Amino acid sequence: MKDDILKFALQNAVQFKGKANEKAVLGKVLSSLKGKKDIKKLSAEVSKIVAEVNRMKPEDQFEKLRETSPELLEKKKAEKRKLPPLKKAVKGKVITRIPPEPSKYTHLGHALSFLINYMYAEEYEGKCLLRFEDTNPGAAKKEYVDAITEDIEYLGIKPDKILFASDDVPKMHSLAEQLIKEGEAYVCFCDREKMHDLRHKGLPCDCREKEVAINVEEWRNMLLGKYKEGECVLRLRGDLEAENQVMRDPVIFRISYEEHFMHKKKFCVWPLYDFENAVEDGIHKITHIMRSIEFGEMRVELQDCIKKLLKLPKQEVIQYGRFKVIGAETQGRVIREMIEKKEISGWDDPRLVTIKALKRRGIQPETFKELAVEVGLSTTPTNIDWSVISAYNRKLLDPKSNRYFFIPEPKKITVEGAPKREVEIKLHPDKEEKRKISAGSSFYIPAEDMQAMKEGSLYRLMDCMNIRKKGGKFVFDSLEVEKYRKEGKKILQWVPADEKVEVEVLMPDAKLLKGFAEKSAEKIKEGEIVQFVRFGFCRKEKDSFIYTHD
Ligand SMILES: [Zn+2]
Repeated sequence: MKDDILKFALQNAVQFKGKANEKAVLGKVLSSLKGKKDIKKLSAEVSKIVAEVNRMKPEDQFEKLRETSPELLEKKKAEKRKLPPLKKAVKGKVITRIPPEPSKYTHLGHALSFLINYMYAEEYEGKCLLRFEDTNPGAAKKEYVDAITEDIEYLGIKPDKILFASDDVPKMHSLAEQLIKEGEAYVCFCDREKMHDLRHKGLPCDCREKEVAINVEEWRNMLLGKYKEGECVLRLRGDLEAENQVMRDPVIFRISYEEHFMHKKKFCVWPLYDFENAVEDGIHKITHIMRSIEFGEMRVELQDCIKKLLKLPKQEVIQYGRFKVIGAETQGRVIREMIEKKEISGWDDPRLVTIKALKRRGIQPETFKELAVEVGLSTTPTNIDWSVISAYNRKLLDPKSNRYFFIPEPKKITVEGAPKREVEIKLHPDKEEKRKISAGSSFYIPAEDMQAMKEGSLYRLMDCMNIRKKGGKFVFDSLEVEKYRKEGKKILQWVPADEKVEVEVLMPDAKLLKGFAEKSAEKIKEGEIVQFVRFGFCRKEKDSFIYTHD
């Protein structure tokens, strides 16, 4: 009877964050019993056992349930969630885009934005274009194009077309000339400070009053490289009194003699972001743009104005809630500095949330998709931290990661009278395949567990034997799990002292943790993700492991 109460109490605790509910447990026990029941006696017993279970650590509740009644472990089927429907979307006609700037490595935030755009195109059987916004020649680099391409592949995104905005620079030049001829843009030679001041006051500079023919000539001279960098810019004739300061004659083209990684010195006049973005979305017939609410209405107004002047189609814009990645640096510029100062090891340092770092730690492409749906569904701010990432990822890793014993900070114990035996343990609770561990009488157990062991109490070396601490020594008690089930205190993780391998795990704080694993851990292949029981999921790298999450 007690066994039944215990298993239902454990199950209930595991389901509800470590706290079992007396009534729920009693209900389960009653419905499992046939015939007459002494409810009063039962409920006293339930109350006692539930209190005991609730004093256990959640991981111990889980392990005890796993060892004693694995059939009660819940196997949840994840239900597929979907992004909310798009406005004005026709099946087969939707075209979205992924517009990375190849001047930095992409992080989780980019990944989610890429995925939201891609998943919508998929959902509506449309197209998704990957467009490198590489019109800042000094910043755009081949290295980043390659890295982003690799990241996109990892995320499972297969773009229908790969474009480089820089390929359209000639087209952008001719559109600019069209604007100048229509009196909508002018070449301005004023210095930055003067313009800053004038724009702030809402006043024009003299360049604004020039004739169209002069502007056309000066623009062509810009293209011919007759001016120095910074000597002049092309400004859009906006509204100098606009409340939105972005609309006060913004710069749309500037001169740069920096070499472009693809076009080398072919162009010296480059569009600024909003012009490039508006034109690219228009000429490639993008229908829907999904972006974070923080993009800002100010820029949207400018881009809409550019599209209107150039008679380019406008896109349906879907804004999803702002999301913040908590606890990690995401600014590309800051990360680059940290690498230069050797504060972190590189773009895939475990402390970062770049796609490279997350991939290295074993975050599955499906996890990114789940997170994208979560963000895409929300109009309120979403905070993403490791607990959210790992909650999704664990669901994916748990059914497929083989289990191994690993003891961090191991302490050696010798168990008097322990029989020599070979233990066979399933590689995974759902699989038949087994691994063998030879147990002698010496074991390594976690230092923490050893300190907590109480004199006289019964402990179980997981899947192996029951032991007791007596007079400061460790003695063999029995093999049967039933005995542990009745009076056991805790199940201990162990590695035989005679057959072990040294293992190093790179932790999320970039510290290296050393310990011993069972011998069969030698067979773990590079790239494989395993679960070191009670420690966490880890991904095998060349010679060591990297910690994924618990
Ligand atoms: Zn001027």
